[in-house]
Amino acid sequence: AKIFTQEFSTLSKSRQIKYLKMKYVIEHMEKGFTEWVILEYAQILRDVGSDNLILTCLPEGTTDRDIPVSLLKLGLQWSTKDASHFIPRDIPKSRLCLLDPRAELDLQPTDTGEFDYFIFGGILGDHPPRDRTGELRQRLNCPGRRLGDSQMSTDTAARTTKIILDGTPLEEIKFIDYPEIRFSRHEATEMPFRYVLDGDYRPILPQGMLRLIKKDSERSLDQFF
Ligand code: SAM
Repeated sequence: AKIFTQEFSTLSKSRQIKYLKMKYVIEHMEKGFTEWVILEYAQILRDVGSDNLILTCLPEGTTDRDIPVSLLKLGLQWSTKDASHFIPRDIPKSRLCLLDPRAELDLQPTDTGEFDYFIFGGILGDHPPRDRTGELRQRLNCPGRRLGDSQMSTDTAARTTKIILDGTPLEEIKFIDYPEIRFSRHEATEMPFRYVLDGDYRPILPQGMLRLIKKDSERSLDQFF
């Protein structure tokens, strides 16, 4: 659903309460919706719930028809405006937290009391990292927190943030760096990011991602033949 663009204070109380709940904000910084981005956003919606999330900064003129159906089905709320347009005016910048790989402090469970909104770059990982989050750092000019010193995908960053805000310190979360995804004896792909491990010590990837990685690797192999 498209989110309002009018001033927060002019909204009805019930709408204000609804929007105040959306504490995860993803500022979309990619061009359009690639399959990777769709799978990552879909997973974040499943993990944090559609009431808690807004996808901002979509190109002017975007309509529901431009949004992938799978995201609409999961209840995606979105806006063409950036985060500053719908975060209530009376919430000071000190209550916003940019998840920033270059921040000085790591996020801690006590930060639940410090911040009302957690803002992520909707950016596909690049290796080596190009600090595209820096654009948000400059634009938002709000406090930042790091999630350790390794680059994560946006869905992993959102998952890690939720685990920490739910009470588990970063040091106690089990991660794997640069996992190798093996499809067969001859085919494997290394993912140059950090992932949270599940109870079976497997990296948590968005639903459907393994299939997509396999498809992409077959496509790039095809180029050699
Ligand atoms: N290479 C990108 C860059 O140059 O900024 C990294 C983008 S990362 C794939 C997408 C988003 O996840 C970042 O904008 C940030 O909000 C969050 N993120 C990823 N790793 C993080 C970390 N170690 N600490 C804090 N935030 C992180």
